[in-house]
Amino acid sequence: MLVQNVSGSAGHSPPKYRTWIQYYRSQFKIKHALTCAEYNCTRTDIHGAHINKYYFNYIKAYHKTYIIPLCPKHNNPNFKQSFYIKCNTKLLECNYINYNFIIKKYIIIYLLVILILSYIKIKLY
Ligand SMILES: [Zn+2]
Repeated sequence: MLVQNVSGSAGHSPPKYRTWIQYYRSQFKIKHALTCAEYNCTRTDIHGAHINKYYFNYIKAYHKTYIIPLCPKHNNPNFKQSFYIKCNTKLLECNYINYNFIIKKYIIIYLLVILILSYIKIKLY
């Protein structure tokens, strides 16, 4: 399975848990030690990392964001390339919201509404 790190997710914290890996463990009820999910990696000093998995169908390409266990080497903003993870890795779906994108979208809608309203006003008078 090919995945890629999500950048800019560090400030984001999980619901009711202090760390993403605690949240991950609780959701799958994992008690045993976990190793890094990267295909060849055996490190056990892991974090809960945000990754994107890409999907393609005939119409479009899209991605979903998941939490998986990764070591500091593989959960790193400088580690930008796509990488393979172990096939038995459990993916915890995470509806990571890009707030910057949403704010930008609303500013554009707001400006369009103002533009349309001022246009209507010009027409009326
Ligand atoms: Zn690793």
